Amino acid sequence: MFKDYLLYFVFLLNNNYEGEFQLVLFKNSYILYDMNRKNELTILLANPRGFCAGVERAIEIVEKSLEKYGAPVYVRHEIVHNKYVIESLKAKGAIFVDELDKVPDDRPVVFSAHGVPKSVPLEAQNRNMVYVDATCPLVSKVHREAENHHKKGRHIIMIGHKGHPEVIGTMGQLPVGEVTLVEDIGDVEDLKNNPDIAGKELSYVTQTTLSIDDSLEIINELKARFPNICEPKKEDICYATTNRQEAVKKIAEKSDLIFVVGSPNSSNSNRLKETAVKYGCAKSYLVENDSKIDLNQLDGVQILGITAGASAPEILIDNIIAKIKTKFEVTIEILNIGDENVKFKLPNILKA
Ligand code: SF4
Repeated sequence: MFKDYLLYFVFLLNNNYEGEFQLVLFKNSYILYDMNRKNELTILLANPRGFCAGVERAIEIVEKSLEKYGAPVYVRHEIVHNKYVIESLKAKGAIFVDELDKVPDDRPVVFSAHGVPKSVPLEAQNRNMVYVDATCPLVSKVHREAENHHKKGRHIIMIGHKGHPEVIGTMGQLPVGEVTLVEDIGDVEDLKNNPDIAGKELSYVTQTTLSIDDSLEIINELKARFPNICEPKKEDICYATTNRQEAVKKIAEKSDLIFVVGSPNSSNSNRLKETAVKYGCAKSYLVENDSKIDLNQLDGVQILGITAGASAPEILIDNIIAKIKTKFEVTIEILNIGDENVKFKLPNILKA
């Protein structure tokens, strides 16, 4: 047996095979082990994943603003929640600020895809500033919805995450006290003690990037407690959030481990990770980029699922796969639950 392996080894060397070998004693026989042989790994890519139409439009708005007005163009808040995108736009001349008072009167300012309270464009108008609103049209739809309910005398219940810019923007469409935020079932229970809603007709709106399942539980609880509550004509959770969550559910059933590519402050990316865990893949991790991945995590993994939040560019996935290929023999499979062909128009101010 040993002689056979030795001959095989000599054969490989004679044929310029560049592997590194080791003879390993295993169960009374010698095995010729190729040290350079890579383990096989199947990568299951969720589709749709990554950029949505609202994010593409917001990035294009900053780029077109830079073309039209020259650098610097100021952007109030992160245009979308992704570090790679922010750094790329900074390199092109965008300056990101927390508030409008950091922007000089004579430079244009872009408002982020998450939307802004009404007070922000009002301040820009009062200062005669040029501003470009990159609020996603699907977030604007929720703003108009909240306003319409308010005009009809209803108090608004907003389902969302406290402190998220989209929630601040939507609540900021109406006077203080006209919108009540609920984050979970416990908050719905507390509504009975809330003097703001006593005796009022109610309606609800939601943040666009919530977990479909979690928000459904909250909505059901709201309807059970307030059977006359008015609901949105069309679901507020957007198509991109819905599709990415449905796709991650499918890969979660098949994957040993999942990477959700996205930044830690990205709401929809965090929801994707939670959904993956809930639907069967306990080892699901939110990763910002390839530098955050330890390849040793993948030892013993046969199927790795990958998806990305709506603000994460495809290049981050490409870089992660390239890194994985340094250690594994990779086969890529795509799990597609449907194609997206949504496209939003640019604001008129950039069309001239
Ligand atoms: S995730 Fe949805 S609401 Fe948010 S920017 Fe994308 S399409 Fe618009």
